[in-house]
Amino acid sequence: IKDMADDEAIQATNDDASECKRYAVQLGYWSDPFINFFVKQTGRKAPEINRGYYARVKGIEVFVDKFLKLSGEKGQIINLGAGFDTLYWRLKEAGKSPANFIELDFPSITARKCYHIKKHKQLIDMLNTEDGEIRFSTTDLHAANYHLVGMDLRHISELINKLTQAEVNFNLPTMFLAECVLVYIDTSAASGLLKWLAGKFPNSIFVNYEQLNMKDKFGQVMLSNLRSRGCLLAGVEDCESLETQQRRFTINNWEGSNAWTMVEVYDSLPQDDRSRIEHIEMLDERELLIQLLQHYCISVAWNGQTFKNLSIAQG
Ligand code: SAM
Repeated sequence: IKDMADDEAIQATNDDASECKRYAVQLGYWSDPFINFFVKQTGRKAPEINRGYYARVKGIEVFVDKFLKLSGEKGQIINLGAGFDTLYWRLKEAGKSPANFIELDFPSITARKCYHIKKHKQLIDMLNTEDGEIRFSTTDLHAANYHLVGMDLRHISELINKLTQAEVNFNLPTMFLAECVLVYIDTSAASGLLKWLAGKFPNSIFVNYEQLNMKDKFGQVMLSNLRSRGCLLAGVEDCESLETQQRRFTINNWEGSNAWTMVEVYDSLPQDDRSRIEHIEMLDERELLIQLLQHYCISVAWNGQTFKNLSIAQG
């Protein structure tokens, strides 16, 4: 029973993330015409939270763009713990669809995502279909190059099964995305997952966004929004520093890895765009933003030569 309660609390983090994204989009931090199909209402969020989400979404986009440039139309994106992420539709709108796009999350989340997709013609119409056919179940959706499947990332046999149904191709250049996901998975299951992926995808890149330095000097987990959700932060030990973030990949057979704090990521984003968003809302104390950004990072790991040493720098 405790495990089920934990899983429910973990699934609820998707509502938090999607609401924060929708609110920032509404204020004009970045454009996402699709998020409001998945999230109806949001309460007000503090300016530093909105800027933090801006850095998160833009930072990940930098790597997605680099991946798509290097893999051409032949790439495959696998979004782990995708929640209500709208990346598939944002890329489609920009004319940058990869060969295949697979989203995985708990069945309770994918069922809700399926429901929203079914309900909105704009979302369905943008799914590629070879013969006009889209296959739905309650929790899964299969179109030509978009697959949404419900499963638990802690169970590798289930993962193999679902990836096969999603027409995975182990030999394609592949990008894994995990945005605030691994922290909810205990270290041994996360290690098993990373190791399995490293062994199966010889030409791949893993982009991971998550918390950093979460413990204060007394060893307590600090981020209050996580605590208040009552979530078990099972993977907290891997989030201690940039170094542990990198090492969790290399000890699990990834060839190399790199990591940046979100302060570095924020500062690397185009100056014009930063000036624009810094005018959306006043921030009395820049220190608050820096403190927040210091507690998150993007780490990247690779297998094979194609995606070796990609950096956060633009261009
Ligand atoms: N990546 C999305 C984003 O950034 O908008 C959602 C982030 S939300 C904080 C974390 C997501 O990871 C939730 O949707 C949750 O259900 C999913 N997740 C956590 N542990 C999981 C597991 N063991 N199996 C499948 N999904 C999981």
